Amino acid sequence: MSKQAYNCYYNELLSKHTSWKVGGPADIFFTPQNRDDLSNFLKSNQGNPITWLGNGTNVLVRDNGIRGAVISTKKSIDKINMETDNSCRVEAGASCMDLALFAEKNQLGPAAFFSGIPGSIGGALTMNAGSFGHETWEFVETVEVIDESGDIHYLHLKNLNSHTDQSNFLFPCGSSPA
Ligand SMILES: Cc1cc2nc3c(=O)[nH]c(=O)nc-3n(C[C@H](O)[C@H](O)[C@H](O)COP(=O)(O)OP(=O)(O)OC[C@H]3O[C@@H](n4cnc5c(N)ncnc54)[C@H](O)[C@@H]3O)c2cc1C
Repeated sequence: MSKQAYNCYYNELLSKHTSWKVGGPADIFFTPQNRDDLSNFLKSNQGNPITWLGNGTNVLVRDNGIRGAVISTKKSIDKINMETDNSCRVEAGASCMDLALFAEKNQLGPAAFFSGIPGSIGGALTMNAGSFGHETWEFVETVEVIDESGDIHYLHLKNLNSHTDQSNFLFPCGSSPA
C-alpha cells in the first residue's frame, strides 16, 4: 500500500475494510473528510469506475480486488444532527448503532432495530436493511445524494416510485425521521 495523500491510498487491501477480512487491493482507496472533499474527488476521477463501501458487512471482495476507486464513507461523513423536532439528518458514514442511540436519546421513535445491524447508514439505505419488523426506508423522508460528476441532488421520497428507484442512487447523506 502506498499513500498518495492523507486520505487517498493506492493498492489498499480491502481485507482490512470488510467484515469477512477477505479481498484484494483497490487501485485507489479514498476516504473523504467531508462533502467538498468527496465532490472534488469525484470531479477529478471522471471516467474511472467507482465502488462505494460502508462498513463492509455485506460485501465479499475477490482476491483480485477492485479496479478503479473504492470510496469508503465509514467513519467519515458520519454526523447525526436534529433536523426538526421529530426528525434527524444522518450522514452516510454514521453507523446504524449510532443512529439507534441518537434516536433513543432524542426520543425519535422506533429506531432500536438499527442497533442490531452492524453496517453504516449508506449501506442500510442501499440494502434497505431491517430487523424486528422494521426496515430502513420506512423512516426516510428525503435523501441528499451525489452523482459521479460530484454534483449534489436532493430527493424526496414521494418522487421515488419504488425501492429499485431508491437504490439506484448513491447516498453520501440521508435524512431520516426516526
Ligand atoms: C453479523 C451480521 C449481522 C447482520 N444483521 C443484519 C440485520 O439484522 N439486518 C440486515 O438488514 N442486515 C444485516 N446484516 C447485513 C449488513 O450489515 C447490512 O446489509 C448493512 O446494511 C450493510 O451496511 P454496510 O455499511 O456494511 O455496507 P457495505 O457492506 O459496505 O456495502 C453494502 C452495499 O451498500 C453500498 N454502499 C455502502 N455505503 C454506501 C454509500 N455511502 N453510498 C452508496 N452505496 C453505499 C455498497 O456499494 C454495497 O453495494 C448483517 C451482517 C452481519 C455481518
